Amino acid sequence: MRLFDTLAQQTKTIDFPDGVVKMYVCGITPYDTSHMGHARVGIVYDTLRRYLEWCGLQVRYVQNITDIDDPLFERARRDKVDWRVLGEQQTVRYLQSLAKVNVEQPHFYIKATSQITQMLPVITELIERGHAYVVDGAVYYSVASKPDFGTIFHQDYATMLTTANERGNDANDPHKRDPLDFVLWQHSQPDEPAWPSPWGPGRPGWHIECSTIATSYLGPQVDIHGGGTDLIFPHHACEIAQAEPITGVVPFVRAWMHVGMVYLDGEKMSKSLGNMAFVDDVLKSYSGAALRLATLKQPYHDPYEYREADIQAAEQQAMALRDALAVLSEATGEQTALDGTAYRNRFVQTLDDNFDTPGAIMILDELAAAIVETAHAGRNVQAAQHLLHELAGVLGLTF
Ligand SMILES: [Zn+2]
Repeated sequence: MRLFDTLAQQTKTIDFPDGVVKMYVCGITPYDTSHMGHARVGIVYDTLRRYLEWCGLQVRYVQNITDIDDPLFERARRDKVDWRVLGEQQTVRYLQSLAKVNVEQPHFYIKATSQITQMLPVITELIERGHAYVVDGAVYYSVASKPDFGTIFHQDYATMLTTANERGNDANDPHKRDPLDFVLWQHSQPDEPAWPSPWGPGRPGWHIECSTIATSYLGPQVDIHGGGTDLIFPHHACEIAQAEPITGVVPFVRAWMHVGMVYLDGEKMSKSLGNMAFVDDVLKSYSGAALRLATLKQPYHDPYEYREADIQAAEQQAMALRDALAVLSEATGEQTALDGTAYRNRFVQTLDDNFDTPGAIMILDELAAAIVETAHAGRNVQAAQHLLHELAGVLGLTF
């Protein structure tokens, strides 16, 4: 398969010689309702997993849940609920919303709070190896200790710092040697959970959760690591910086595959801006298949401007696929049967070419049109209908 790798900034061929695909995708911080941006990430990697499994590969798909983080605590405070209850409720709601668009759960769905004891020895080792330092009960990663820090972002230091600051970095923390240094272990506020550690009670930083969970469940090298493009920096740069010195395996990830942001009215859809289309609201008017189809009609790596008209159009398209599956032809003879081999081959070639789901959907449309035309001509379409059903299923489309 060929995939665009964010680190290499080019499309490269990735093979899976032992038939196993180790896949890690950064999951949600469960504090609010799922919007189309969450749905897009869920749908893209779910479809990739379905495709790889259909190709005969054994996928080991791991996702984390950041059930301890500042936004979650802030919301719990605002709503006067226990952070555990909020996290649990929102995780369940997220899974229910995604199930409606036929997203299966990853094989391993791991809460950050369940992995604290695994993170402590990693942080200890980073200190011992000179990649981290302790100040007053907190531990910071020293970006100067890894000269290639931030390579995945392909930007200069000033841009890295500006971007990190926009995404929660505290550049003014007087304990830091470099404003880009990031927290591995931090003090907890009085109403936040705290775990014992060699440096005093506290809680882990966000970045150490993902590299620890990824290496614990997948080993020192991940084949495909996913997440939204907003995670490239600093989050994924930090993951690389934490993982490689510990495992000694470079690169930590063979292909970094990022999903573009979803926009609404020209602005990135986000909880902080409040411009969101919620999955459950969209599904009040449209089918899960339409939502999934509209999502997969966008190249996964591009930004995607959400428009209701696109979901409407996808609903029509889903109906056309359904009609092609239902059309009856009385012909049974093999000689007059519609041969789907070329469609199947093109479907595989298209998805192998940087996971081109819009191209794959066009092939489904062509096959559906051929089925209807062939059936009307009185020829046998049964095998072609089975194929359409199978290929639609690979994209997670069930009718
Ligand atoms: Zn992550």
